[in-house]
This record gives sequence, C-alpha cells and structure tokens, in this order.
Amino acid sequence: MNGHTPASTHAKPFTLKYVKRILIDMTYQVLLYYQFTPIEEPQAFAKDHREWLKERSLLGRIYVSDEGLNGTVAGTPEQMEEYMAMVREIPGFESIEFKIDECDYIPFAKLTCKVRKEIVALHEEGVDPSEGGRHLSPEEWRAHFEQDEDFILIDVRNDYESKIGHFEGAICPPVENFYDFPKWLDDAGLPKDKKVLMYCTGGIRCEKFSVVMKKKGWEDVNQLHGGILNYAKKEQGKHFLGKCFVFDDRLAVPIDPDSQDPLATCEITGQPTDHYLNCANMECNRLFLCSEEGAKAYEGCCSEACMKSEVRRPFDPDTVYQPFRKWYNYFDDDFKQRSKSREQVS
Ligand SMILES: [Zn+2]
Repeated sequence: MNGHTPASTHAKPFTLKYVKRILIDMTYQVLLYYQFTPIEEPQAFAKDHREWLKERSLLGRIYVSDEGLNGTVAGTPEQMEEYMAMVREIPGFESIEFKIDECDYIPFAKLTCKVRKEIVALHEEGVDPSEGGRHLSPEEWRAHFEQDEDFILIDVRNDYESKIGHFEGAICPPVENFYDFPKWLDDAGLPKDKKVLMYCTGGIRCEKFSVVMKKKGWEDVNQLHGGILNYAKKEQGKHFLGKCFVFDDRLAVPIDPDSQDPLATCEITGQPTDHYLNCANMECNRLFLCSEEGAKAYEGCCSEACMKSEVRRPFDPDTVYQPFRKWYNYFDDDFKQRSKSREQVS
C-alpha cells in the first residue's frame, strides 16, 4: 500500500454526475437588452422580429415602439449568439448591449413580441433618454459605496422588487408601477442640491427617470450603466443585499454570492423568504411573499378566504414554486364559460 487511491475513483471532474451537472447548468442563456433608437415602422419591425424568433421556437418577451426595442429572450448559447448577431445587423442597433445570464431551463412559457406606445411605460410626453443622467460604470458605482461621499440613492423599481433585494442605503419608493415614479418624486421632498445615484434591473427605467429628475431641477444625476444585472457580473454584486427580482419564471436571481440571506418575510408564517408566489386562487392571483411552509399551509393561496375559492390551481407540495400559467393550463372550457357569464353579470 503506498497510500494513494487510484486516480479514477477520486478524479471528480470526470464522474458522470459532475459532467451532467455542468452540461445541465450551462444549457441555456437568458438575454436582457434595450436600446432607444427610433424605429420608423414598429409594426413591420415587430412582425419580422416575431417571425424570426418563431422559426427557431424561441421564447421571451419583446416590446417594440417608435422609440426603440426592449426585450428578454432565452435559448441555447448558439441560438442566443445567432439572435444577438441578427439584432446587431439591424441599422441603428449595431452597438446594442446584451446582459447575458445562465439558466438551467427556459424561464418563459411563450413568445410575446408586440408594439407598445413606449418600450418602458412612464406615461409622460417629451422624455428623451439622450437628456438623461451620467452613466456610471459598475466600477465607478462601487467606488461610491467605498468612499465617504454624500449622495441620495434611489431604487427605480417597483416596491415588490426592491423588497427582496436592493443596494445598501437605497430609498425604495412604495410604488407599484414605474409610471407612478414622477408622482412619488413630487411628494418625496428630496434635496435638489445633492448628488443623485439611481439604479434599476437592466438600466432602462433610469434612462427615463433620470430625464424626469433633471427636468425637475436635480443637477447631479447619475445612473448605473447596465443596471443590477450587469453590476453583478462586473463587480460581483458588492453592496447589493438580497436577490434581484426578474420578470420571468425565475422571479429572483442571486447578485452577490456572499449576501443571499432573504430580506423579506413570508406573509403567512413570518419566516425569512425571498420567494414569491401567485395566489392559487385564479380570481385573486396576487403575487405575494411566501415560504415553502406557508405555501404548504395555505396550499398556494394567499389567505384563508382564497383557500375557499372554487377556482384554485392544483397545488403540489413537492414543487411549491411552480410558475404561474394562464387558466387553460389548469382548467377546461367550462372555466372560460364561467368567467364569461360572470363578466356579463358584473
Ligand atoms: Zn389570494
């Protein structure tokens, strides 16, 4: 005996389990991107875009407007490479930036590619992103937290997003929609002579909200370039607490690997959690914070009242955090007829 174990039993990287894990973990990519570039014929643009994606069975959500393009799509790395190349060939979109995340499944149920009035809805006329704040690189952004500088930090996302994760010391406005931000600002009483730092998930909301702040008199307005998701890749998410809400089936993604303790609590049990659920009662469907124990206790419903509903999605205690799907995935046509007759009554 020389004390050495045969290499084959200890060479971890070559075990089937390890190889399988690598293959599965690296299977898909999720892209997040936007660009404000005038599109002359949004309808035709969206139609071409949709057909290209459909031909390849790709899923995601894309909004097109005369102000530009905003989207998120998922697929294999090869498919995403092809998609990015296609977009970069469109005149005006040569330098569009893509945030790329890895995911072991496709976090979308369908493909949506449609024309909207705005690619991110602020409901205000005359907001030109070219008049927005100064873009801070992730490195510059991080330096602000590590130097003794005075600034106001604003989380330009909805309250249910900032609840499960945000930067240290951020003001997290109690708003449910992006278009409520101008009203919030009018009432917030923030000093106009102070330096402002703002951030959102991928950067697009700051492109508009920074314009609003400048128009209303703030002079030193700065925004995190590429948002939280880009910062996570470049600066390992330092000074970000909790997780980042995303608008796909993942709902939350880790940002700083060293800071993943849940910031929020389960609405049913009070335990720490960063998991969201859509209430299993189809007539409620409320997005609420829910621990695994809470979900089991109320069978995926947000309240005891919702547990009494006749139109509850089936609940499986083994897969508590199933993404919410449209009614036809759970019910047959009777459900639709029922909904219709109810609409007629009300
Ligand atoms: Zn409910």
